[in-house]
Amino acid sequence: MKAEAENRKGVDAQSASLLRVCEIYESIQGEGLLTGTPSVFVRTSGCNLRCWFCDTPFASWQPEGQHLSWDEIDHQSRKFPASHVVLTGGEPLIFKSVSTLCQALRHGKRHLTIETAGTLHRDVECDLMSISPKLSSSAPKQTASTWHRVHQSRRERLDVVWTYMQNYAYQLKFVVNNEEDALEVLRYLDLLPDYDGERVLLMPQGTEAESLKRQAEWLIPWCRKYGLRFCPRDHITWFGNRRGT
Ligand code: SF4
Repeated sequence: MKAEAENRKGVDAQSASLLRVCEIYESIQGEGLLTGTPSVFVRTSGCNLRCWFCDTPFASWQPEGQHLSWDEIDHQSRKFPASHVVLTGGEPLIFKSVSTLCQALRHGKRHLTIETAGTLHRDVECDLMSISPKLSSSAPKQTASTWHRVHQSRRERLDVVWTYMQNYAYQLKFVVNNEEDALEVLRYLDLLPDYDGERVLLMPQGTEAESLKRQAEWLIPWCRKYGLRFCPRDHITWFGNRRGT
């Protein structure tokens, strides 16, 4: 029995050091301050939130992918020539061994962006912390569902977001559906001790180029009025809402 327990411990320790990954590919960054930069995307699978509009359900609602060690993930990412790497999800910071992975991905002067919803604190290294706090309208529509309650209780962690803003080069990206959401962004920013409007980006919600264009018509002047940045989702315009782009 003892040996079996020891063996079990070993297996658990090993699985705790793995990260679930659903895709690794090279494309052009289509969002945020580094738009247009050729980048390798490492997408982990699994998320502690459940946004109704999630455009990567295969990494949240129905997580897919293999459990891999940090060195295998790093090895696969180096099959592509881009020197910028984007660690995204899902929520990459749910994994305990993400710090080791970040160190490896950054090795050799590669530039690492981490995409996170900013609800979990991890001591990681990166060159750009891309934080996308989720607004109240992001919750699953079924208000009686367990995920609605869990999502709402987890989505806002100003303490975590502020810690990241103080310690990293950052961008704050908000997904907005309408002016009500945009006003909620202003209330959110008011709760932070400080922020740089040049690093606060508002992106229209949507996965169709036409609807993004319509939303841009009101959101661009709105952002100018409040000293924030409009953030197009260029990868959808360039490639459509397709995996691997
Ligand atoms: S936090 Fe991101 S990955 Fe998670 S459900 Fe929301 S949009 Fe999807």
